[in-house]
Amino acid sequence: MSDLIVGIDLGTTNSEVAAFADGQVRVLGPGDRRILPSCVGFSASGELLVGEPARNQQALYPERTVRSIKRRMGSQEAVLLGGKSLTPPEISALILRELAEWARLSLGVRPEKAVITVPAYFSDAQRAATREAGALAGLEVVRILNEPTAASLAYGYGDGSRHTALIYDLGGGTFDVSVVTVEGDITEVLSSHGNNRLGGDDFDDLLAERLAQEFQKQHGVDVRNGHPAAKARLWWAAEEAKKKLSQEPYARIREEALVERNGKPLHLEIEISRTDYETLIRPLVESTLDSVSRALQDSGRKPGDMDAVLLVGGSTRTPLVFNLLTERMAIEPRQDVHPDLCVALGAGVLASRLAGRDVDRVLVDVSPYSFGVSFLGERGGVPYPHCYKPIIHRNTPLPLTRTERFYTSHPFQTRVDVQVYQGEDDDALKNILVGDFRVEGLTEMEEDNEVLCRMRLDLDGVLEVTSIEKATGKSKQITVANAMQAKSPEEIAAGKKRIHELFESRSGEHSASAGDFPDSYDDTDGETDGETDEGLTIDAVAKPEVPGEAAAKGLMERSRNLFDRMHEEDREEAIDIHERIGAAIESGDTAALAEAYRALTELLFFMEGQIGGRPN
Ligand code: AMP
Repeated sequence: MSDLIVGIDLGTTNSEVAAFADGQVRVLGPGDRRILPSCVGFSASGELLVGEPARNQQALYPERTVRSIKRRMGSQEAVLLGGKSLTPPEISALILRELAEWARLSLGVRPEKAVITVPAYFSDAQRAATREAGALAGLEVVRILNEPTAASLAYGYGDGSRHTALIYDLGGGTFDVSVVTVEGDITEVLSSHGNNRLGGDDFDDLLAERLAQEFQKQHGVDVRNGHPAAKARLWWAAEEAKKKLSQEPYARIREEALVERNGKPLHLEIEISRTDYETLIRPLVESTLDSVSRALQDSGRKPGDMDAVLLVGGSTRTPLVFNLLTERMAIEPRQDVHPDLCVALGAGVLASRLAGRDVDRVLVDVSPYSFGVSFLGERGGVPYPHCYKPIIHRNTPLPLTRTERFYTSHPFQTRVDVQVYQGEDDDALKNILVGDFRVEGLTEMEEDNEVLCRMRLDLDGVLEVTSIEKATGKSKQITVANAMQAKSPEEIAAGKKRIHELFESRSGEHSASAGDFPDSYDDTDGETDGETDEGLTIDAVAKPEVPGEAAAKGLMERSRNLFDRMHEEDREEAIDIHERIGAAIESGDTAALAEAYRALTELLFFMEGQIGGRPN
């Protein structure tokens, strides 16, 4: 018999198995697969299906498929499945057997012992049913572990000192929030709240409903009635789109030949924005925040008493969840351990310790810094071209892709420079420039031109930055080869000196020689290579609203600070525009003011060589 003990997250929607392998706790599975849908069924020919194949037939053959069996654990109710009667522990045992098989395929040894996690609120009967499921699967359940405790172990909070954490767990079909104190191996659940009928599946339902309405509007056919296959396809498309919207501002959904009418195939084609999607799901996310408040109240703690907020469950990848929770808790939640693997990894930590391994926490590859771009925004009520918008946030697991929206700053703008920074400060100049590129050939538009900036960071520290003109799909990309490399103290000192000089020069106390600016910002710290140009390219600058007097004066002040570094003719042009602004203010001619303001913004944009962009 081996000393192998595995940790298992037996989830409502998905399940995973983790164990100590190659020096650390890992989630195991064949090939790239790590997540087993908690679904069991029988095919038409009576063959047992566990996981993905069962999930795939669920919408079409509900009588032969069962999902979310975890909800029925502890009850005596038998489940009729493809003509067979099975108890909830028996169905769970089939999932556990499959996970044990996944562990055997990865490790070459079949596990005989396991730590299995359950929600904090599970009753004794539900815990006993979970043990029974383990026994039926041939696994000795050495410990039943609360899920929030598993999450805190994965994050390394079982290190001996005392911590208080709020664990927010939003999965596919359930939501739980717990306030826990962790001290060494002992975790006390101070309070726990939730809704075991709320999760990402509800987000899918709302989106699928929206798609069905759109299809009905386009083609006059209601796929919700009498079209089970089309309905199932819509549901899949909705889940895919939902996941896409976690990293992109838009998702395009195209389902060919969703139904036929008079022998003619009807297609669904729709683009949905993250903003629209967030409006759909917002009430559900708000309701989870009510539970957070109640859990805090019941524990007698305030948001400020939390040492950490930990995100668990696949649906916490939804940006709205992260943003609203950050607002409510006033600290940034941690999501640096993969949210859908976190509980399994925590169970794996305990399992490894019980098997005699010295494991503190799990190791994950995360981005050590934030990466973003500068844009023309406002600081202190005046336009400022070096505002910073992070696109990739630090401590996010790798690899990852994120996209944000920006807009051009003035009508008919055809080019923009993208400056890519590494760092956390909302003033881009206090961060480290890792690359820059120019986007030219934007479509001339009178109104805002929307430009997407996509960043992809891989495990080797290769950062790809792509600008995409939304209207045409034309794009330009650069690759920064060593984006995650820490800067040497000398590089940081040199950068600080440049910034200091720039600020001195802006306040007029220091006059930099021509060429110090902006050229000194052109040298990229990361090695930039592999520029690709598909057609033309983009980027963004912020759009001035109809300017007020104060904004116009701020802009003039900014350009005055650059006078001594401008070429003669640019300076003359700037002075001419200043005079036009002065005259327009004097006469109250708002159209002339807007026009002169736009001209000065354009000139400055050119001078400063900066990308702007009003982030969404
Ligand atoms: P879990 O029960 O923790 O495995 O979470 C499963 C839920 O997470 C399902 O509803 C998934 O659709 C959802 N999910 C997985 N990945 C993402 C993502 N990138 N964005 C939003 N939801 C996701």
